[in-house]
Amino acid sequence: LMHQFIQFKMILEIIPNVTYYKKPVFIHQGHMQWLWDVDGRRYLDLFAGVATVSVGHCHPKVTAAAEKQLRKLWHTTNIYVYSPLHEYVDKLAATLPEPLKVIYLTNSGSEANDLAMLMARLHTGNFDIITLRGSYHGGSPQTMGLTSNSAYKYPIAIGLGCHNTMCPDVFAGPWGGSHCRDSPIQTIRNCSCPQGLCMANDKYIGQLKEVFATSVPSRIAAFFGEPIMGVGGAVQYPKNFLKDTYKLVRERGGVCIADEVQTGFGRTGSHFWGFQGHDIMPDIVTMAKGIANGFPMGAVVTTHEIAASFGRGVHFNTFGGNPVACAIASSVLDTMKEDGTQQISHEMGTYLLMGLSKIRDKYEIIGDVRGKGLQIGVEMVKDKASREPLPPAAMSEIFEDTKDMGVLIGKGGVYGQTFRIKPPMCITKDDADFFLAVFNQALNNYME
Ligand code: PMP
Repeated sequence: LMHQFIQFKMILEIIPNVTYYKKPVFIHQGHMQWLWDVDGRRYLDLFAGVATVSVGHCHPKVTAAAEKQLRKLWHTTNIYVYSPLHEYVDKLAATLPEPLKVIYLTNSGSEANDLAMLMARLHTGNFDIITLRGSYHGGSPQTMGLTSNSAYKYPIAIGLGCHNTMCPDVFAGPWGGSHCRDSPIQTIRNCSCPQGLCMANDKYIGQLKEVFATSVPSRIAAFFGEPIMGVGGAVQYPKNFLKDTYKLVRERGGVCIADEVQTGFGRTGSHFWGFQGHDIMPDIVTMAKGIANGFPMGAVVTTHEIAASFGRGVHFNTFGGNPVACAIASSVLDTMKEDGTQQISHEMGTYLLMGLSKIRDKYEIIGDVRGKGLQIGVEMVKDKASREPLPPAAMSEIFEDTKDMGVLIGKGGVYGQTFRIKPPMCITKDDADFFLAVFNQALNNYME
């Protein structure tokens, strides 16, 4: 262990941002929902490399597809057509409804969102982009401007491209700006009663109207929103919130962008795409993470109309649509069908939410259990009445303890107060039971 610790310290000097756990976890190998460290300790992976390993670590079928392609062709750029590309775009397009049929392949979610911003601006001729408070849309300088979650911003990104009269009002409500200064951010509180949901919706829609009233009417290029907020802490919106927002944004000449980087590919259980659970049709959909089970890849899908304003030949990307990435992504789509990952996501998600709700009722420090499918958040609080965030040290204690008992989960939320559960979509009921027992034990240990 001492040896590992020294190694870890050395690694940190070279790559300083690998600091998730206080005590290092050296991962050596993975198979489906399991990871092993260098000492042979097995962990149940309920974070999947941040909601990315969609069908399972080193899934044999996907691995075989990768190996086959690696022996045939690695790279050409997409100035040529090759069969993995051709096969893949057909398959991906088939998962999306009309009119979302034009595909641009990238290497990551940030890159996809950068491209979507550019498309929206070129198409509308407008500049401003509206995002939600607590949102995370990427780590590139442009998408960092979109990301409202201050924990992920660098001062350099603040004010990026900001010529925005919206700033003061944008931060008056649950809205984050495309490019604003840091501010105290409030996550939209989840409310489980239908009446509350409607009231909350009116409130937030009212705030959006206010944002519009104080901005130059013709400047809205786009609204960017995840169907369920991921890094923000599995935040769900009031009923019809996205539908009403899309309508208002379109009335102002903006396009609507669904960031499906986390919610796509069946993760929400009920639908293959998260937006399908909201009775909306985005103009642009961005995706990454689960698309290739951990192999770097992303995509933007849009309409012929928007693609036309974007223009042919403007966009070039050396690695986007790489043959190996396409072969893997193609096999991932097949595997999702064969293994029934969306159904697993639905069933195991429902089961976990039920189990977690029981645990919530036992502990004063759980403020909320929410999410859909295998996109789950457990919001930790000082007490249920105040719903103030549980401080980082306490979060960390429970988090490390859970890991020490063999389960890896994630952290998120605007104040880092939400545990996130987004496993590979191949977990079983036994895995869920194991996690529920471990989590319950970790809470017990903390309370003692
Ligand atoms: N959008 C969302 C919703 C994300 O969660 C993330 C990554 N956490 C991104 C975009 C950025 O993706 P990437 O890290 O692949 O650039």
